[in-house]
Amino acid sequence: MNPAASWFKGRKLVIATKHHKEQVIAPLLEKQLGVTCFIPEAFDSDVLGTFSGEVERTDDPLTTARNKCILAMEQTQCDLAIASEGSFGPHPALYFIPSDDEILLLLDRKHQLEIVARELSTETNFHGTEVTNVDALRNFATAVKFPSHAIILKQMKAGGGSMKKGITDWNLLLETFQHMLLSGDPVFAETDMRALYNPTRMNVIEKATHNLLEKIASVCPQCQTPGYSVTDRCAGLPCSLCGSSTRSVKSHILTCSNCSYRQTIEYPNQKHTEDPMYCDVCNP
Ligand SMILES: [Zn+2]
Ligand SMILES: [Zn+2]
Repeated sequence: MNPAASWFKGRKLVIATKHHKEQVIAPLLEKQLGVTCFIPEAFDSDVLGTFSGEVERTDDPLTTARNKCILAMEQTQCDLAIASEGSFGPHPALYFIPSDDEILLLLDRKHQLEIVARELSTETNFHGTEVTNVDALRNFATAVKFPSHAIILKQMKAGGGSMKKGITDWNLLLETFQHMLLSGDPVFAETDMRALYNPTRMNVIEKATHNLLEKIASVCPQCQTPGYSVTDRCAGLPCSLCGSSTRSVKSHILTCSNCSYRQTIEYPNQKHTEDPMYCDVCNP
């Protein structure tokens, strides 16, 4: 059991998803928090944006996840909800490497609590390309782990051509492709990133769930509210040669969202000085 389980034990928790994310989220939460998970009937998160572009996501991922929770809570009259939101694209630090950035948010109206966790992973098949012939399509499909991972085919037509999502069968893939090609418009193949069609993404969501439970387990030393965690990272680790402040992290600040208790942890990375290589004075 999670050390903060007493806050949640015996309560119902709604998982705001229509893409079967409960498969990985529910067992972990039920075991560690003692909640009973359920999904809302006919929940449509697509109104908040889709990956395949029919509905553009206008808010940032955190706001979208929060809105999903609120929508599910209103629909089910439940005061405890969880939602996840994924973003795909180049990794923010490792250029050109695709990444899956998953945000998981727990909203608890009973305790006025919001806890957010994240998992940034390079484990993703995220990819898309124009395909002009069957061989190119086969190569793309193999590279993105088809058919265990689904593919979307799109006709690239001004004003919007046809689109087929969730393809997980070779015959259907080839038939749909040949059919789209007949129109003479270019055909674009991309990975279907919806969780139920993408086991690799489902694994990343599972990791994010572990991160969330770890964060819940961290309680404020003063008021015991769960979710006590790092809210700021301060630069200024001194250079080992000249002693000037560098841009490397010197301290972490932890803040309680409930009572505003604060703690500063000096040298969180067990490092008291920085290599002159990262010093703007020694190595400009
Ligand atoms: Zn506190
Ligand atoms: Zn220096």
